[in-house]
Amino acid sequence: MDIEKLEKLMKIIKNSKHLVFFGGAGVSTASNIPDFRGEHGLYNYTPEDIISHSFFKEHTKEFYEFYFDKMVYLDALPNECHKFLALLEENKMLDAVITQNIDGLHQKAGSKNVIELHGSVLRNYCMKCNRFYDIYSKPFKDINYKGIPKCDCGGIIKPDVVLYEEALNENDITKAINAISKADTLIIGGTSLVVYPAASFIRFFRGENLVLINLSEINIDGLSLNINGKVEEYLNTDNFNKYLKEK
Ligand code: ZN
Repeated sequence: MDIEKLEKLMKIIKNSKHLVFFGGAGVSTASNIPDFRGEHGLYNYTPEDIISHSFFKEHTKEFYEFYFDKMVYLDALPNECHKFLALLEENKMLDAVITQNIDGLHQKAGSKNVIELHGSVLRNYCMKCNRFYDIYSKPFKDINYKGIPKCDCGGIIKPDVVLYEEALNENDITKAINAISKADTLIIGGTSLVVYPAASFIRFFRGENLVLINLSEINIDGLSLNINGKVEEYLNTDNFNKYLKEK
């Protein structure tokens, strides 16, 4: 860990009035949730093919096979980074968390204002009657997370997850852009920012400090701080207690 950069980061967080965190897959790596894009697909399909709207429509069974196997981690627990961000919010030092992850771990850690750009595996809807089902509901338990979950009306239940070929939720886009354009500090963590259109959201940032924390090195114009490392090593409760508790 780079102590000089850590101290600079903590100083930025401490002095921010409107801090927003924008996170990706790397935020949940320490919770043992791998980035499915790195996984091998089924048969001759890539993960991107499988997690698409048309694949869901045409090969629902195979979609769910991959989905339950590679994308749903019901036993996963929030890690230090999730906890750190929840602490910041609790102490009124953070406006919002914007995430590309679908695991619901920020809320599990206690974060309230979470904008889930790609939806959540925890929420599901019947495609026929629109009835809501959480992932712990009967249709999921009945099939033991194998096969296709069906509604009482007979309709197929679809995860509230934004698939490839599908548009992001308008309301979430608006909320994310509002938060980013109001922010004086934007910390981007655990994402290579390759997934469009989320990646384009940083264009709306007009604040002072743009910070990137990512395992692999990425260069973006206008960074105030570029940290090469694991997000949870920099953003964690120890560092919160050491640097930020007595604000
Ligand atoms: Zn239904």
